[in-house]
Amino acid sequence: MTLAILGAGPAGVGAALQAARRKLGRVVVFEQRDSPGGNAGSFDIAGIRVDYGSHRLHPTCDPRVLADLKALLGDDLLERPRHGRILLRNRWIGFPLRPLDLALHLPKSFILGAAADVVRKRFVPKPVHESFASVLEAGLGRTVCRDFYFPFARKLWGLDPSELSPVQARRRVSANTPAKMLRKTSGKRFFYYPRRGYGQLFESLCDAARNQGAEFLFHSRVQAIEHHEQRVSSIHYETAESSGSLDCQLVLSTLPINHLVRCLNPPQPILDAAGRMLFRGMILIYLVLEQDRFSEFDAHYFPEEDIPISRLSEPKNYSASSEPRNRTVLCAELPCDPLSDTWTKTDAELGELVCQSLSVAGIPLRAQPLQVITRRLAHAYPIYKRGFENDFALLDDWVGGFENLVTFGRQGLFAHDNAHHALHMAYCTVDCLNSAGEFQWDRWRSHRQDFERHVVED
Ligand SMILES: Cc1cc2nc3c(=O)[nH]c(=O)nc-3n(C[C@H](O)[C@H](O)[C@H](O)COP(=O)(O)OP(=O)(O)OC[C@H]3O[C@@H](n4cnc5c(N)ncnc54)[C@H](O)[C@@H]3O)c2cc1C
Repeated sequence: MTLAILGAGPAGVGAALQAARRKLGRVVVFEQRDSPGGNAGSFDIAGIRVDYGSHRLHPTCDPRVLADLKALLGDDLLERPRHGRILLRNRWIGFPLRPLDLALHLPKSFILGAAADVVRKRFVPKPVHESFASVLEAGLGRTVCRDFYFPFARKLWGLDPSELSPVQARRRVSANTPAKMLRKTSGKRFFYYPRRGYGQLFESLCDAARNQGAEFLFHSRVQAIEHHEQRVSSIHYETAESSGSLDCQLVLSTLPINHLVRCLNPPQPILDAAGRMLFRGMILIYLVLEQDRFSEFDAHYFPEEDIPISRLSEPKNYSASSEPRNRTVLCAELPCDPLSDTWTKTDAELGELVCQSLSVAGIPLRAQPLQVITRRLAHAYPIYKRGFENDFALLDDWVGGFENLVTFGRQGLFAHDNAHHALHMAYCTVDCLNSAGEFQWDRWRSHRQDFERHVVED
């Protein structure tokens, strides 16, 4: 049997390792980039390993996955304390939240407003049309929503909170009631991080999969998938110089679901639904600075709208690295639409935008950056626009009609999940294969219900 895996992000490499270990047949992975890790990969800038924005491995990772990662990385998997802060109404609040810090640093008007909202919300009538805005306001009250979640939502997803589906509030905001928020203040305050960047997790999984016989075709973009009578038969792909195809008996896809569907040449209503599935893009703006360190913090969060970037991270503070001396990199996250004017701004313009943002935040740079480098992610976040559920269900059902094609991972299930969820999905997907290499759909349906309960960690 030949098993084709589409995409070598966390979900793809996780599935490749598990399938290769099972020795079910030939395992071939198609990846358009030059390395594994997808949005969770790493690369070098100025001698420092950097990620596509702030990435942490959360301790809530599935134990089986975590055990594999610990075994593969050994001492390279560091346990790091979380040390971030949020700028709210010109005050810095420690993140993760701590009750004492909140009491000392939150503006009194904010605390009083939030407390009054807890009483007031008992008398607020249930809205006729639920949305991200109505669910969060019912749970957290107006003050927290107006000052924190709503501007942050507009920045992250580019839509007004009333245009977003209630699913976005339930899946994306884990602390969506005061009780859950309080519980979070006593949650785990550490994360795992590999010595050589977050992407080391997936480079190690990729190496392990290769050692078990899996083949990785990098620089290979999947363009079309051939099928007959509800069975997929071959993958067509392009590299910079040529094109090729591979006959296969089973396809595990982690591609964005709308791209997967287009590859299958679907009927018009399915194509239309694919066109309505929206992803938010993100530009990562890296500033190289001539100093040992910019700050002691791993990440700064900017929920308010006068600052266009959503987060700033300093990679050296994630890996606790002191090398190289007199050099550090900052990574600013700028959510935006791939079709907007912002997307095509030059590196110099984007560098200037970050410098201005940091000045407004009260943490200006000491000197001009030595270098500005940018990277663009076209599929950073799924956008749960109200009504997206119907379009997703349409695509999911149509893809589900193929006997030997499975879609999973963050892009494949249009889920706002963490990398450890994507890995967990990958392990579950391969678990559904019996020893004859047949996919057990009943088992898969039960896993899919479990995936609905994933809670996204920040
Ligand atoms: C800014 C940011 C911060 C994040 N922070 C965290 C964090 O702290 N902790 C955490 O756990 N998660 C975090 N995440 C989420 C994490 O990045 C994702 O959960 C994870 O990358 C999902 O893995 P995946 O394999 O499902 O998808 P992806 O990583 O998107 O991988 C999909 C792969 O498919 C490839 N592909 C797409 N189309 C084609 C094609 N046509 N042909 C061939 N290959 C193709 C892509 O190149 C990519 O490699 C963050 C995400 C973002 C954007």
